[in-house]
Amino acid sequence: MDIAIGSQNRPLTVAIIGSGPSGFYAADHLIKQDNINIEVDMFDKLPTPYGLVRAGVAPDHQQIKSVTKIYEKLAQNEKFRFWGNIELGKDIPKSEFLNYFDAIIYAVGAQTDRKMNIDGENLKGCHSATDFVGWYNGHPEYKKLEFDFSSKNVIIIGIGNVALDIARIMAKTVEELSKTDIAQHALNKLSKSKIKNIYVIARRGPLQAAFTSAGTKELVHMTEAAAYVNPDELKLEEETGNIISQTSDKRIIQNLQFLEQISNNNPSYYSKIIRFLFRRSPLEIYGNNNEVSGIKIVKNELFKDEFGKLKAKATDVVEDIPAGLIFSSIGYMVNPLPEIPFDKARGTIANINGRVYDLNTKTIVKNEYVTGWAKRGANGVIGTNKPDSIETVDLLLKDFKNETGGDLPSNQKSRIEMWLKSKKLNFVKFDQWKLLDNYETDLGESKNKPREKVTSINEMLKIIQNMDQG
Ligand code: NAP
Repeated sequence: MDIAIGSQNRPLTVAIIGSGPSGFYAADHLIKQDNINIEVDMFDKLPTPYGLVRAGVAPDHQQIKSVTKIYEKLAQNEKFRFWGNIELGKDIPKSEFLNYFDAIIYAVGAQTDRKMNIDGENLKGCHSATDFVGWYNGHPEYKKLEFDFSSKNVIIIGIGNVALDIARIMAKTVEELSKTDIAQHALNKLSKSKIKNIYVIARRGPLQAAFTSAGTKELVHMTEAAAYVNPDELKLEEETGNIISQTSDKRIIQNLQFLEQISNNNPSYYSKIIRFLFRRSPLEIYGNNNEVSGIKIVKNELFKDEFGKLKAKATDVVEDIPAGLIFSSIGYMVNPLPEIPFDKARGTIANINGRVYDLNTKTIVKNEYVTGWAKRGANGVIGTNKPDSIETVDLLLKDFKNETGGDLPSNQKSRIEMWLKSKKLNFVKFDQWKLLDNYETDLGESKNKPREKVTSINEMLKIIQNMDQG
């Protein structure tokens, strides 16, 4: 007999795929519902939770990472379970998830980078920001990557907060970095760095820089490095000059204040310099023996498109910067997932306000939802995910308002655990993650850092097993 879904005897069962901020905010909003009985099971392909808070937020931004305290509290709720080390598609197909849950929310983030689509992008020494960020943050899938810091010049294409994160990590001293939770392999490599100039290249002007004060505030407090922009770079076109006299946009005002401030620095005074170049686009990366040795960039002019947006147009002035290391930091994209509609143009899971949408049949995919970067694209800060997840969850709740479903054979907690065990999956529960968490923070404390991350999945599982028995 069918019973009302969400009633006392028949919970609404939701699987959340991904345990970053958008996943936790979705879980929070589900669990907060007073009049509906809801059970939430969260899955992550890593044994560790928190997605980009652990593997994306820069290691010297510990304050931002403290948001995990809120997620940790939520994880204690009896209606919530975390199952780490389980990957959708690889360990369990989507169709099987749908046998065990009324609804799935994809909160998988954006794991890959946009391509510059220029010659030489595949040469050795040209990397994506995603690779570098994953590497210095000790993400198990990126730990084996190699970066060569032996050349004097490094180029970063793009001027968002990620570009500033990676510039700062290369600019800071070993002493500064060793107080963070940067992965030990990254610290070892960076300690031998010969880098002097870190060029951050923006295709548009200072007013259009995508970074925020979150990315700039530490750039004025580094021990041996500084940021610098030549005052000529800050001269504004007539059109942008008008914008600045009228703008009340805090971000633009703060960005310009920062740029004005660093234009007073004397670059020859510092051992490492982050140099901002505006109105320039990458043209071609060139190299020797398949390895990067420099980049050609073209100077741009800004023009207003038909919507009034200022865009970059190439001039015929080309510059050349020799460099042994190049990063493309021009935004993240979602990796298409098996069996889940993908919107190529937006680089997201295809959706309408969080309801998954089949672009071929032009219909909503029932019982499947998406939130966070996978829904709206890679933009905003951690807090942006809260209203985003609330929007998705509210639609889900609306869709299930008058739905009925069959009885569950046992309570959802043991039902899911039995299912995962029957599949012989080596899953990690939240209290087991806490054992690893304690291990990492204890090890970090002995080295005067907030945490020493374990960077191999096998090692994580071994530590958990040993501590669980001990
Ligand atoms: P982003 O903010 O979107 O910046 C991307 C940059 O790449 C922009 O400067 C963009 O220029 C440029 N770009 C795009 N396509 C390009 C091309 N073909 N050639 C040259 N330049 C190109 O992306 P992000 O830095 O990856 O950051 C992603 C999100 O995470 C953002 O919302 C960011 O604020 C957030 N985040 C926050 C923090 C923090 O709060 N501390 C730290 C890291 C990341 P145009 O503007 O001209 O398109």
